[in-house]
Amino acid sequence: MGLYIFSCKNCGHTDEEMMSYEEIDAFLNSMSCSCGGELTRDISIPRLSLQSQDNQCVHNSNGYYSQAFGRYFKNQMHMYDWAERNGYVRVTEEQADAAIYGQADALTAQDKIAQDWTDNLKQSGGDKVQAAIKTFVPKNLQ
Ligand SMILES: [Zn+2]
Repeated sequence: MGLYIFSCKNCGHTDEEMMSYEEIDAFLNSMSCSCGGELTRDISIPRLSLQSQDNQCVHNSNGYYSQAFGRYFKNQMHMYDWAERNGYVRVTEEQADAAIYGQADALTAQDKIAQDWTDNLKQSGGDKVQAAIKTFVPKNLQ
C-alpha cells in the first residue's frame, strides 16, 4: 500500500488515496473529479519512501491527518503549503520516475564500490590501506 496523490486536470483539485500500486490504473480509469475533469497522479518524491500499513485517512476536529507526514494540518491546502516550505517538492510522474531511476543508478554505483572494496581487500590480504587505494579515486583525479 502506498499513499498516492491525484489531481484534477481541469480544476486542480487534489486528493490522497491509499492503494496498492497495481490499483492505480484502474482507479484512474474509473474515477473522475466531481467537476467531471480527468484525474492524473501527482507524486511527491519524499512520499515514495514513506510506507504505512494504516489506510485510514483521518479527518476530524484536529484537522486533516497526513499519513505521509505523520501530523495534522488544518486542511490539505495547509499541508501542501507546509510541505513546500519544508522542502518537499511536488513533481510530475515523469520527474519522479527520473528521480527514482537516478537513485537506482546511485545505489548500483554504491554496490559496485562495496563489491570492489571486498574484492580489493581480499587481494591485498586484508590490508585496508592498499584496498582503499585500489577502490577509491580522489575526487580531484576523477
Ligand atoms: Zn476537477
